[in-house]
Amino acid sequence: MLYNLFDSHTHSDNSFDGTHSVMFMCEAAVQKGLLGIAITDHADMDYLEEQQFLQRLKQSYFDVRKARMAYGNSFILSSGIELGEPDADYELAERVLALDEFDFVIGSIHTVQDKNDFYYNDFQQVDPYGLLGCYFERMLKLVQWNKFDVLGHFTYPMRYILRDGRRDVTLERYDDIIDEILRLTVQNGRGIEINTSGLRQDMGETMPPLKYIKRFKELGGEIITIGSDAHRAEHLGSNIADGMELAREAGFAYFSFFKQREPRMLALY
Ligand SMILES: [Zn+2]
Ligand SMILES: [Zn+2]
Repeated sequence: MLYNLFDSHTHSDNSFDGTHSVMFMCEAAVQKGLLGIAITDHADMDYLEEQQFLQRLKQSYFDVRKARMAYGNSFILSSGIELGEPDADYELAERVLALDEFDFVIGSIHTVQDKNDFYYNDFQQVDPYGLLGCYFERMLKLVQWNKFDVLGHFTYPMRYILRDGRRDVTLERYDDIIDEILRLTVQNGRGIEINTSGLRQDMGETMPPLKYIKRFKELGGEIITIGSDAHRAEHLGSNIADGMELAREAGFAYFSFFKQREPRMLALY
């Protein structure tokens, strides 16, 4: 029996690709015995849908407050956002952060400039290495921006590269820039997430994989959150226990969730 199951990356129907209401998500999370969740709806600066996401994030924050009243102290509910590609529009990103008093901000990169989400690539046709290079450059910019709490699904393009059967693709050639990104994240007092969605998908591993979770720890990293990236209630909490196991294997004794932009530590047991 595992305690302390906290899912720090979930999407409600206030995300363009989410399915269930915040209240329904909470009910499902309680049923599954989770200690708490963070609702982290999308705000992608690259997708040019700002009018919609500004409104949806307001609604998300409102829904979280309402659910918090319904569940009281029996369940921890953190109001978050997954802020994507801030370098596409830093001014808009600031406006998003100022919308409400969010507890938690995941910083993510889903695209490289002027391209669609990596999801839309067919990596049997497209050379993965060019895009991976651009991805890590953009991650570095995100870390330099430094207005988030944890790096979301670090190594994200691998989800689709592996989906497309390119098991031959490895990341060694990027180890220098990966080190630079992780080192700066540590220096800035930020964290990374262990995104477990790949474990229920074709990818078959977490983002990032164990190698880079270990590296983050070696470089002095202390803050790790664990998230399923659930876009529907049935995926809530999925493989969080595996994420906790990996964090332990990487040498961590604790993982975190966020309240008022501050990490709260939970023992990994
Ligand atoms: Zn994402
Ligand atoms: Zn997400």
